[in-house]
Amino acid sequence: MNLDYNTSDIKPCGSARDATTHTSTATQQPLMRLTGASKLYDRGSCTHEALKSVDLDIHRGEFTAIVGPSGSGKSALMKMLGLLEAPTSGGYRFQGVPEQSLSDEQRLWLRRRFFGFVPQEYNLLRSTSLQGNVALPLLYRGLSSERCQTAAMRALSLVGLEDCGHKMPDELTGTEHRKAGIARALVCNPSVLLVDRASRAADQPLCPDIGSLLRKLNTEHLITVVLVTQKASAADWAPRVIHVNGGAVELDTSRAAASALH
Ligand code: ADP
Ligand code: MG
Repeated sequence: MNLDYNTSDIKPCGSARDATTHTSTATQQPLMRLTGASKLYDRGSCTHEALKSVDLDIHRGEFTAIVGPSGSGKSALMKMLGLLEAPTSGGYRFQGVPEQSLSDEQRLWLRRRFFGFVPQEYNLLRSTSLQGNVALPLLYRGLSSERCQTAAMRALSLVGLEDCGHKMPDELTGTEHRKAGIARALVCNPSVLLVDRASRAADQPLCPDIGSLLRKLNTEHLITVVLVTQKASAADWAPRVIHVNGGAVELDTSRAAASALH
């Protein structure tokens, strides 16, 4: 893999590279592979095992929901998949590259090049328009204002907010706010979208508008989607659901389907 970082190396969503590999996942090297991955967090006098020896493959083009109760390790899992945190033991490979072989610079390059994050909690700048907010990640990368604004409008149209670019964050509905967070993650044309809790409150079901938007991004724009949620209703949109509890994978519907065939 070429790891030379170049800010102009931003390809459209669903690039030809993704399109050629979107449907034939079974025999391919997984896009993301966790092998016996554990995560320990230091809690002063003790450590907490947030993830316990997780084995997980996610292929290019999949739409996967990670479902589980609060504290079950969903966000820890997502941060690991997105190269934000490293496993304490076990391994993680992204496109076959072991994460422990990466320098900080390479890790950053991969994160920027391939991942769009919608964190559990995020804020839009209140004094900046929606379009300005969505353009921010590209502005931080030093792209020209014109390119940033054009990319922001494209990202807004991907989430159906093309007529709302001029609005201020306080004027947005709850669903528009969630879509704005997704647009901000899409502005850099990621291959993988990682969405941590797509409903505003933990106990809310996934809003149908957001569920169908993520499905559209996956099926029409060929973006690999990982959605973290407490709600099993995510299964209405995500073909694959992974249930986590106490830091372990309890059920993976794709494995269950595969074993049912044998
Ligand atoms: P979820 O997203 O499923 O609610 P998390 O992945 O955020 O759960 O956290 C899993 C467990 O790890 C929880 O018990 C949480 O308190 C703990 N944890 C998460 N992050 C940290 C951290 N930075 N330091 C200490 N403990 C943490
Ligand atoms: Mg969480």
